[in-house]
Amino acid sequence: MIISIGTSPNPLIRSTTPGLETNKHGCIVTDGDNGLTSREGVYAGGDAVTGAATVILAMGAGKAAAKAIDEYIQNKA
Ligand SMILES: Cc1cc2nc3c(=O)[nH]c(=O)nc-3n(C[C@H](O)[C@H](O)[C@H](O)COP(=O)(O)OP(=O)(O)OC[C@H]3O[C@@H](n4cnc5c(N)ncnc54)[C@H](O)[C@@H]3O)c2cc1C
Repeated sequence: MIISIGTSPNPLIRSTTPGLETNKHGCIVTDGDNGLTSREGVYAGGDAVTGAATVILAMGAGKAAAKAIDEYIQNKA
């Protein structure tokens, strides 16, 4: 059996999201460690940002982004 698994981020998001900066590998570009993308109020983390990596890194990115999203919403209110 040959298992075929893509390791590049799904191109659908970048092709349907104007203003979302991606790098030459198709990964979403974020500003620093909080996951902020080039679009205001849009945060990203995990393999879509780093490329193929690990669950623990994705979970860490999710936690950091959640904190940043909370701060963003609190400051907007
Ligand atoms: C075969 C294999 C074995 C691995 N083994 C390990 C291991 O032993 N230990 C380890 O730490 N890591 C392992 N990894 C890596 C680990 O699976 C990933 O690093 C981790 O799952 C990344 O989490 P994520 O949430 O960023 O992305 P994902 O888990 O890939 O989740 C992304 C989700 O977004 C969804 N999605 C994509 N595009 C869209 C869209 N346009 N609209 C809506 N939903 C969308 C996808 O369907 C998916 O559910 C392995 C990976 C592979 C492929």
